[in-house]
Amino acid sequence: MASSDPASLSGQAAIVTGASTGIGAACAVELARAGADVVVNYRGSPQEAEETVTAIEALGRRAVAVKADVSMEDDILRLFDEAEARLGPIDIVVSNAGIQKDAPLAEMSLDDWNAVIAVNLTGGFLVAREAVRRFRRKGLRESVSPALGKIVFDSSVHQVIPWAFRANYAASKGGLKLLMETVAQEVASEKIRVNAVGPGAIATAINAAERENGLDEMLKLIPYGRVGEPADIGRAVAWLVSDAADYITGQTLFIDGGMTLHPSFKGNG
Ligand code: NAD
Repeated sequence: MASSDPASLSGQAAIVTGASTGIGAACAVELARAGADVVVNYRGSPQEAEETVTAIEALGRRAVAVKADVSMEDDILRLFDEAEARLGPIDIVVSNAGIQKDAPLAEMSLDDWNAVIAVNLTGGFLVAREAVRRFRRKGLRESVSPALGKIVFDSSVHQVIPWAFRANYAASKGGLKLLMETVAQEVASEKIRVNAVGPGAIATAINAAERENGLDEMLKLIPYGRVGEPADIGRAVAWLVSDAADYITGQTLFIDGGMTLHPSFKGNG
């Protein structure tokens, strides 16, 4: 049932892509903590996805793990079909799945360029397109939320900060920024809210090697003085999709300990 608390997600169902690990898992758990039932999409290990499911069930919410590759159109259709069959109409979609395949530009293979764009950008398009279709089919349920639906993309500080040796990744996140803003403009009148989060350095598998080999250098980029935790993103996403944020659409919320504040300019320039 809907709650009088605008931060509550009670009575709503969510899909989170790439939710078996890292930021996606934290988003799934924090959405559940706020009251939502959650579809845990994964591509790799079902075991890790089941761990996220167990964590959500421990919070008293329903959860199901559904395998799908976000870069494959048929997989996305099946993901939404299975999600609706198991949890009912979907109110919230978090497009989180993403990969990195780093290389200097001159050595970057076309395969590695295509792989990153396919998951990070085309995956975001496929997920958002299907979300909008399903929100329309569901119809507005004002007793649940004033919004017809909510989409959040997991972008990055690298939608605005260039990142040498990662042209594919930075291009995918820069593309996500305008995908998000364009879709937000297109569907706002239907009461669909579309936003992004822009994490800085968050402790997950995607940057384990960088943290192991260069933590001090990384910390120089973070005025707040610590690497972020996945829950830092999860809590913000849970708020962004809640009615407490009902007037917010087309925005990127940077969650980065100040990384986008150009810390190297402190005392210089
Ligand atoms: P992660 O590697 O733990 O998570 C990525 C998840 O996406 C994994 O669960 C993986 O299985 C899944 N995935 C990959 N390809 C997929 C596909 N084709 N279909 C479905 N799922 C797929 O790392 P993370 O840091 O949690 O990354 C999550 C998102 O956060 C990514 O989009 C990443 O770009 C973004 N991000 C992370 C950081 C950071 O510092 N960790 C910073 C900015 C942005």
